[in-house]
Amino acid sequence: MTTIPNARIWQPDGWQDGLKFGLDLYGRIREAVRGGTIGQRVVPGIANLHSHAFQRAMAGMAERQLRADDSFWSWREAMYRFAQQLDPDAMRAVAAQLYAEMLEAGYTTVCEFHYLHHAPDGRPYDDPAAMSRALIAAAHDTGIRLTLLPVLYMAGGFDGRALDARQQRFGHDVDGYLRLLDGLRAEQGDTVRIGCALHSLRAVPEAAMRELLAGLPDDSRIHIHIAEQLAEVEQCLEHRGARPVQWLLDNAGPDPRWTLVHATHLDDAEVADLARSGATVAVCPTTEANLGDGLFPLRQYLDAGGRLGIGSDSHISVSPVEELRWLEYGQRLVTRRRNIAVGSDSPSVGHTLLRAVAASAGDSSGHDIGLLQPGRFADALVLDVRAPQFAGASDDDAIDRWVFSGNRNLVRETWVGGRCLAENGRHLRADSIAADYRTAVERMLAAQ
Ligand SMILES: [Zn+2]
Repeated sequence: MTTIPNARIWQPDGWQDGLKFGLDLYGRIREAVRGGTIGQRVVPGIANLHSHAFQRAMAGMAERQLRADDSFWSWREAMYRFAQQLDPDAMRAVAAQLYAEMLEAGYTTVCEFHYLHHAPDGRPYDDPAAMSRALIAAAHDTGIRLTLLPVLYMAGGFDGRALDARQQRFGHDVDGYLRLLDGLRAEQGDTVRIGCALHSLRAVPEAAMRELLAGLPDDSRIHIHIAEQLAEVEQCLEHRGARPVQWLLDNAGPDPRWTLVHATHLDDAEVADLARSGATVAVCPTTEANLGDGLFPLRQYLDAGGRLGIGSDSHISVSPVEELRWLEYGQRLVTRRRNIAVGSDSPSVGHTLLRAVAASAGDSSGHDIGLLQPGRFADALVLDVRAPQFAGASDDDAIDRWVFSGNRNLVRETWVGGRCLAENGRHLRADSIAADYRTAVERMLAAQ
């Protein structure tokens, strides 16, 4: 009957003692019953709400100054050059390495924001979904739960200009894009969902957005990059007469099926209206810091009752602990105060942030995940309570010890759907996956 016995299980309102889970064939929790003595501390697996898998292979390769005004836009040039070398085999090898690292670190679900659809010359592969299938294969290779979000990318700017030569491989018209989604739905199963993504407001003209939204199934998850850069805010004001988040709120009516990625630059009205919409913001603190994007207004957004999750985005870090830490630390640095992300009933920063990411995981990903409760999948992390960092830990500070003490990986086991996929910080197939990754990256760099 059980997979994770004798555990002390984290729940949003505290810890529960000595639970065993009864699972169905698909790894979904049927019932939780009391039993056994208290041993492990178990928390829900973390959903990674924003990933561009191929960027894992260029982490650390864009940290040399080329111009005094290096910015997001010069980084994007390096990213485009690197992306030219990727084919479906390389995509699968890179994504498998990334997903194995995610599982080791405590991410059990990934929302893959995928726009590298076509061959480098912009022509579709013989199977137009070849790159999408490579990502699905990588998820199966590793066992991670996947929400694949093929991206609609149509224009090179708010003025509707055509994609440039290097952007051709991202592009679809709306009909072609809906066909891609239709073709991929056969791949859906207990661990794979197909959602939808708009690259950004600048890449999807207004009429196309409306056509797309009318053509989606009612339960489709919808993700979009938004308000990451100040230049994007200024261009949106110029071309659409409103700031990006305000424009989206007024014209697309985002609701709990929506995830807004970054939403870095918000004014007070946008904070309030976005929080009220029930949409999730996917904050990507390490990538936003790496790219010099700006700082999400976390405290104001939490005060407004907003929902949020985290993403590792460009994968210069693959660690939920580091994302949560920097979500909080960014606020401390600008406010010169401590312990910002707390609730009136929750003085612990770690607990408050874990509660937030657990609560948004299901709506954002479309999977029954986020809490270890009947009806949800048994995606769980067993923390290494034998580690010195947990010496004398109490229920009140156990999550803070996990998030805020040192750099040793404190995830001892990672479970997805009742299957243990990583132990002691190692994915069970780590060696063969890393060997394939090394071969793929060396081949790409040699061709660059
Ligand atoms: Zn992104």
